[in-house]
Amino acid sequence: MPIYEYTCPDCGKTFELLRAIREADERAVCPDCQSAAAKRIVSNFFSPGLNVGGGCSGCAGGNCQSCGH
Ligand SMILES: [Zn+2]
Repeated sequence: MPIYEYTCPDCGKTFELLRAIREADERAVCPDCQSAAAKRIVSNFFSPGLNVGGGCSGCAGGNCQSCGH
């Protein structure tokens, strides 16, 4: 089973939980305050198409000096 990360809106705790994929998006119980409102943290770290370096689609290097835009 994969490990998912959850955050509790009541006490602010973040924790990891081993869950089945089909249960990943269900609310979890916080181990600190027992609140059942903890929600999964969805990581955008590997978001495709995110242009962090500036520039345009014509110049993957991060600036437009090479492509003329
Ligand atoms: Zn909590």
